[in-house]
Amino acid sequence: MSSIAPAPPLIAAKQVVIENLIKQYGTLRALGGVSFRVNTGEWVALMGPSGSGKTTLINILGGLDTLTSGHVVVDGVDLSKLSESQMVRYRAEKVGFVFQQFHLVPYLTALENVMLAQYFHSVTDETQAEEALQRVGLGERLTHLPAQLSGGEQQRVAIARALINQPKIILADEPTGNLDSRSGDEILMLIRDLHQRLGSTVVIVTHDMKVAESCARTIALRDGRVEHDERRRPYSTASDSLEPETERMRGRERAGAPAALKGPQRAIEK
Ligand code: ADP
Ligand code: MG
Repeated sequence: MSSIAPAPPLIAAKQVVIENLIKQYGTLRALGGVSFRVNTGEWVALMGPSGSGKTTLINILGGLDTLTSGHVVVDGVDLSKLSESQMVRYRAEKVGFVFQQFHLVPYLTALENVMLAQYFHSVTDETQAEEALQRVGLGERLTHLPAQLSGGEQQRVAIARALINQPKIILADEPTGNLDSRSGDEILMLIRDLHQRLGSTVVIVTHDMKVAESCARTIALRDGRVEHDERRRPYSTASDSLEPETERMRGRERAGAPAALKGPQRAIEK
């Protein structure tokens, strides 16, 4: 497989560089010129009302959807320049996805669901998958089917699957949206713990102010644009100048449309 073309060094300096990103669905402009940068290891909450473009942005960042114009560079990879097969490889190697709907394959065990993510690697390493499930506290549930697991446990399997390839960036689209508050809190603690231990960059879509407040940075979208971008604590390696701080977002929604699943679904269906 040909390697992914590296981005020019200047724009590859930050782990995520989004510049004037526009996404058009027919005549509907879902993203109308979004720009921001994310440093390696940052934990960013992405907020905004329903329809503001959060899922569209996450899907583009994760290579599940294409952009109309602008630049998106993740870990040195310019996403607008990737072929279909390079995009598949980008998703498998760089990105860990956690969705609101857990997207587990119902007839595969927890272990097999995690091993699916290793599809693109030549070694299907069962031990590795088992360790990943142990890390998320499911060492005793390896052979359970999704239907035999609680919602929180299913989301743990999804997290183990997302982390199996040690992704550079974890994208979570309302990961607690389908969980009761206790399971939701546990899932967030787990993501936070993994973020701290593995140093992965995390972008998490959430409507929960409590979650947002626990993140060092909140980016709020409205009508496909960045409404505000706020860092709560100084971030050690941050050198970008940011938009002036604005007051925190008040509006929030509860239910979000399920993400359109394209790439991984296809991979999973194989
Ligand atoms: P959010 O996740 O913030 O609720 P989305 O990114 O899902 O918002 O949607 C942003 C806008 O783009 C909405 O108006 C939505 O209806 C539209 N949209 C999203 N996906 C598609 C699609 N596949 N085709 C057409 N319109 C879409
Ligand atoms: Mg959404």
